Amino acid sequence: MNIVAGFDVGSLTTKAVIIKNKKIAGSALIRSGPKPIESATRVMEKLLDATGILQSDIISTVGTGYGREKITFIDKAISEISCHGKGAQWLIPSARTIIDIGGQDCKVIKLDRDGNLIKFITNDKCASGTGRFLDVMAKVMNIESSELGKLSAKSTKPITFASICTVWAQADVIKHINSRKPVEDICAGINTAMANRVAMLINSVKIENDICMTGGVAKNTGVVKTLSKLLGCRIKQIKKADPQLVGAIGAALFAEQMAKKKTGEKYDNSRM
Ligand code: ADP
Repeated sequence: MNIVAGFDVGSLTTKAVIIKNKKIAGSALIRSGPKPIESATRVMEKLLDATGILQSDIISTVGTGYGREKITFIDKAISEISCHGKGAQWLIPSARTIIDIGGQDCKVIKLDRDGNLIKFITNDKCASGTGRFLDVMAKVMNIESSELGKLSAKSTKPITFASICTVWAQADVIKHINSRKPVEDICAGINTAMANRVAMLINSVKIENDICMTGGVAKNTGVVKTLSKLLGCRIKQIKKADPQLVGAIGAALFAEQMAKKKTGEKYDNSRM
């Protein structure tokens, strides 16, 4: 039985995926704690509980995410860029540009048709353009980040934020709440401010179709829709798996590749 696992210890969430005989057999997602090894251990326990698979049945494991070097039980640590690229192209074989927006950074990854990395850029210097920006604004509004997309879809008059700086935008949100602006319009403004910041980064590289989004922010339909409009092209939705799990999926695929190398089997790049 070919059972492999991928772990993605991110700044906000830790994800794990098991791939068994080329199919996702189970996954787990928890909030990251201060120590990556503890987060990875907790997510592993949750994953094994959810799948009924024994740790000893897993023949190869790969870790990714900012905490990857601290996971002691993995066979190899691989960068998020490689793992998001691999996972995204497995789920959408035509993907050439991958926009990954997580809790503390935003990356644009360009791949060729064989999955080789052509270029990548990243913004990890500023909270605007990351999930953290959305989380801070949602907290000020006393709503969950997961509600931002649905609420903004109901907006009739989106608010324009004067600044995309997290500190100033936060003050702006408070001002608009106090002047009783509709929540939906504030949410639409927040998503647009975020999309504008990300579009600035994306426009600094020549993007190529098909484009898809990974990371937790890919679940915010408001950001995806506005970003699509700003870029003037369709962003393909990942439907076969939770987009937040793509890094862990990519890590599991690398684990599968390593397991096959070990056993001398030819690596077969077939997809779901
Ligand atoms: P990291 O890998 O850096 O920990 P993630 O890829 O897990 O980050 O993304 C975390 C971000 O995803 C959060 O900051 C939040 O804004 C966003 N997010 C998570 N779940 C949802 C959801 N259901 N709907 C909309 N946004 C979400």
